[in-house]
Amino acid sequence: MFHKPGMMDALSEYEAARYVIFGVPFDGTSSFRPGSRWAPDAMRGVSANFESYIPFYDIDLSELQIHDAGNLEKYASVDETLKTLFYSVDHIVRDGKIPIMLGGEHSLTLPCVKACAEQAGNDFGVVVLDAHFDLREEYCGVKNSHACVSRHIIDEVTDNYASIGIRSGPKEEWEFAKENNIRYYTPEDVDEVGIKNVLAEIIEYLDCNHIYLSLDMDALDPAYAPALGTPEPFGLNAVDVREVIRTLAPLSVGFDVVEISPEYDGGQTAVLGTKLMREFIAAHAAGCQ
Ligand code: MN
Ligand code: MN
Repeated sequence: MFHKPGMMDALSEYEAARYVIFGVPFDGTSSFRPGSRWAPDAMRGVSANFESYIPFYDIDLSELQIHDAGNLEKYASVDETLKTLFYSVDHIVRDGKIPIMLGGEHSLTLPCVKACAEQAGNDFGVVVLDAHFDLREEYCGVKNSHACVSRHIIDEVTDNYASIGIRSGPKEEWEFAKENNIRYYTPEDVDEVGIKNVLAEIIEYLDCNHIYLSLDMDALDPAYAPALGTPEPFGLNAVDVREVIRTLAPLSVGFDVVEISPEYDGGQTAVLGTKLMREFIAAHAAGCQ
């Protein structure tokens, strides 16, 4: 028996697929430790570690319609990359499938959100897990920097937005968030009231049936996820992040895992990111039968 290299349990052809996984190996605007371009293939590599059976949901991923589309061709310029990515995700969404992007850096989330929003219309919201606000208008002269993605989501797509894990940003970003009533939860907020209560509040606040869920892996504490472009201590724990995914996946129309920079550890960050992606698929399938 030969095993085709690629994401484990992604056995479906595109036409039949409900879930379309694809990588975008782009880290052109990464400000501190580039290297997330290597994450999609690192995640495919470690995926062979996992059993296809997910006991919590009594679901076998190998029996779901999951397609691995490979990696998107990228350009040197972030703007060209984002444009191409938009058309690819738009195609997937119009075909009625769930796009699952493996970044790459966080700037890549914007075109995915745009494509999903066009399909969902007004009944749409965005949840971002991140250590960072990403609320700058531009960073180092680059509008579509990975440090600005949430700002552009709010300005260009929807302000029906909430973030979890926030603990880093210049004073201006904290002030901007307060002045504009941007809904965010720090890890201390999560500790204080518990992730389930945070999620109940977010679902009530967003009040919509279509969510785009973006997981910037640095939302997690670097103890769980050390291989990151911009690690930030005192973050979320892995079980709480899994709870976010389990709760929000059934409402989600798109998902991404970004900012893993796999050269900075022995593989555990890619293992965790891949496991969380598999949880997303299982939770979505269980909740949307
Ligand atoms: Mn980010
Ligand atoms: Mn971040």
